[in-house]
Order: sequence, then C-alpha cells, then structure tokens
Amino acid sequence: KELAEKINVKATEVIKELMKKGQMTTINQMIDHNTATNISETFGYEVEISKDNIEDLLIQEEDREEDLQPRAPVITIMGHVDHGKTRLLDAIRKANVMEGEAGGITQHIGAYRVTTDKGTAVFLDTPGHEAFTAMRARGAQVTDLVIIVVAANEGVMPQTREAIDHAKAAGVPIMVAMNKMDLADANPDRVKQQLSTLDLIPEGWGGDTVYSEISAKENIGIDELLDLAILQAELMELKANPSRLASGVVVEAKLDRGRGPVATVLVERGTLNVSDNFVAGKWNGKVRALFDDQGRKLKVVGPSTPVEILGFAGVPEAGDTFTVLEDEKMAREISARRQQRERMAALMASARVSLESFMESVEEGQVKELSLILKADVQGSIEALKESLGKLGNEEVGVKVLHSAVGGITETDVMLAAASAAVIVGFNVRPTPGAREVAKHEKVDIRLYSVIYDAIDEIKSALEGILEPVQ
Ligand code: GDP
Repeated sequence: KELAEKINVKATEVIKELMKKGQMTTINQMIDHNTATNISETFGYEVEISKDNIEDLLIQEEDREEDLQPRAPVITIMGHVDHGKTRLLDAIRKANVMEGEAGGITQHIGAYRVTTDKGTAVFLDTPGHEAFTAMRARGAQVTDLVIIVVAANEGVMPQTREAIDHAKAAGVPIMVAMNKMDLADANPDRVKQQLSTLDLIPEGWGGDTVYSEISAKENIGIDELLDLAILQAELMELKANPSRLASGVVVEAKLDRGRGPVATVLVERGTLNVSDNFVAGKWNGKVRALFDDQGRKLKVVGPSTPVEILGFAGVPEAGDTFTVLEDEKMAREISARRQQRERMAALMASARVSLESFMESVEEGQVKELSLILKADVQGSIEALKESLGKLGNEEVGVKVLHSAVGGITETDVMLAAASAAVIVGFNVRPTPGAREVAKHEKVDIRLYSVIYDAIDEIKSALEGILEPVQ
C-alpha cells in the first residue's frame, strides 16, 4: 500500500504486477528492496536506497600500514569422519599444556591458542567442514589455513574431497596431515598420489603442498606438524591492527544456567577490554568478564585470540560478527534495529506459500496458480507427475511447474521455491540436510511422496481447498 501511494498507482495494480512475477502478496504485506525496486521500475520510477543507516556506524576505517602488527594464524582441521580430526585436536592441545599446568582445567570454548618455540597458532575446535561452511555462509571467513587429515591406511574418502572443495571454495591454503601412521597398513604414498589428482601436489614431487606424517593416537609427528603449520602461516605475513576498538566473530555461544549468555569470540582486530560495549549479531552487550581457553580470567586481549565473554544481552549465533562500539547507546540502537529487521524478515518469510496457505488464498480469491518444483528419482516419474498435474485444476486455479529435475532436493531448489513462492514436491527423493535447514528458515513447504497417486491427490485437494494440514 505504501509503495503504491509513493508511485501513484492503485495498490491492486502493484499486487497484480507482483502476481505476474509469481509473488502472491496482500495489501499490508512487507516486500523487500529488490522487489520494490523492480515494481517501481515497471511503473517508470527509479529507486534510490537511503544511505541514512545506523549500520554505517559499523563500517570500519581501513587500517594504516604502519599500525599493522603480525598476528597468529587461525587454523581449521577438516577431513573424512573417523580419520582422526578430534584426536589430532586433542593431541595438539596436550602437546601445548605446560608441565605445571597439566591436569589443570582446559575448557572447551570452541577455539584455543597453541604456542611453540616457532610461534603461536589458533585452532578452531569444531572439526568438520559443516561448521566451516556454516560460518562462511554467515559471511565469516576466519580461517587462514586448513589442515586436511587423511587416515593413511584408508586414503582419500568422499568427505576428504568435500573438505578440500570447501577449503578451495573459500580460497584458504591447504596442508595435509597423513594420520594413523602407526598402523601397519598405512600407505602415505598412496595418499599423496590420490591427492595429487586433486591438485595437492607434494613439495617433494614438484608441487607446493606441505604433507606431514603423524599419529594422533601415538603422539608422533605432532610437534613437527605444528611447526610446519606455523611456518607456512608465516609466509602469509598475516597482520592486524591491535590499537583500535576490537572486532571479531562469534565461534560458539550458549546459555549458561549460572552465568547467562556466554560466547566465544575470536578477536580478529583491535584490543578488547573488560567493560567495552559491543554488538554481536542482533544482541548488544557490555563485557563483564573475559576468560581464555584455560579458564583464566583476563582483562585485555589482542588480535587472533579466542576468548570467552560474559555480558551479552542474548545468545548470539556462531558466525555472527562482534563489534565494539564507542558507547552503549550506539550498541543498543544497532541491536534494536537488527531485531526489528529480523522480525520483518520473519513476517516476509511467513508470507511464503505452503499448500495450506495456498488453499486459504484460493478461498480468499487472491491467487490463481500453484507453482511447483518437482524432484524425482527417475525421469519417468517426473513425466508421469507432470502429466497428471497438468490435468488438475479448474477455471479458477491451475498448477504451474517452475522446475523439474531428477535428483535429491537441494538448497538451490529451496532458494528457487522461496524466491518464487513455490511448493517443492519430492517423489522418492529427500532433501539434503542443508536444504532442509534452509527450507525451515525460509518457510518453504517440501512435500515428499512415494506413491504418485498420493502426490496428485494432495495437490488436487489443495487446489480444491480441502487440504488437511500436515503436522
Ligand atoms: P574424527 O571423526 O575425524 O574426529 O576421528 P576421531 O578423532 O574421533 O578418530 C576416529 C578413530 O580413529 C578413533 O577411534 C581414534 O582413536 C582413532 N585414531 C585417531 N588417530 C589415530 C592414529 O593416529 N592411529 C590409530 N591407530 N588410530 C587413530
């Protein structure tokens, strides 16, 4: 309604245009920037997005070269399940606990710092590329170096390849740790051969990938691996400016019964102090206390330091940015703004179509067409579905297939459904965990069937407005 007034057309005209673009909206519904721009252009208006935005306060000045100081690398360990990621993280950690401190309480805070006589490195303590990619999806690229662990007896496995692809997609350098060298059937040459075909050519073979042979279980080669990693990172000349307000990224967060919201933040730039005001994701806060990975209380921390923080107004999410601000009012305002934006996004998402809401819209006379995305195990099923669905509908409502393909339901399918207000129909296929996650977040309706008749029947019911909601 508001947009229609601004561009001097009737609200129904705007709704009609939106429908043409496959988006079903009501007069009071929120639409996003892109859609508003699109629609306005259709009516001959140019749109300028207002820059008057409080988040501009967060845009940080570039650091001056002379303020930059060397910083420790942040390393993530990835690899196939059971190849020894967890064991290696433990071994690295133990190698680093000083004699006197051994037996002291090492806390799991999601990241820890390790110091050898060659230097210092930070290890992210959540093995696996899901965590890595989840953070990246939220815009947090924290890792400087990836160590791919391969069990030398088993060699390269599917998740080894996947991990390598994720690291490459992120543009992060890769090192290889060939683990389980204590086993009689360990075959490091085979690992090197396999990985060479994936462009990870060992230094000894004319390439530039660093390989090391270890046994996480027997504690063999761990110190050498650490030294190699630190050396490799040194070549990258990583730097950060310690003399500015701190910023970084949330690595892990939880609600602690006694202490309230607690999060581990990796400080990337600047120096963090007790009683600094900050915003992290949608929450603001004031640092009440800082602890390192050994549970020691700190007052000040610099770049490349993981630190547990108390003082959040709510529990942030892993991957959220953490930014210190000059005063509390700014932090509060940004937090309030972000929470409001999240509510708006939720409102918009709930306006997406499900079979049930489609039925309601039909009853209200708002929509005429149900958009579908079809995924099935074989092409034959797709053809059969398409043909039967084509026969459904009446003068008032019909079915439109936006996309159909053989294969499981992927995140791309879900994003397409979300963007075009469609329902996904899966026949003898399942959504990937990622797709399921995105569907939940974007409120996209995924319907799974193994009997064509059931699929047809349910969609027919939706069209006729007699659908029973699924639980
Ligand atoms: P993750 O799934 O990659 O985290 O693997 P884990 O660290 O949980 O290790 C999987 C299994 O391999 C466990 O039973 C470990 O004890 C074992 N393991 C890990 N490293 C070694 C090693 O160097 N040698 C041998 N023999 N076993 C290992």
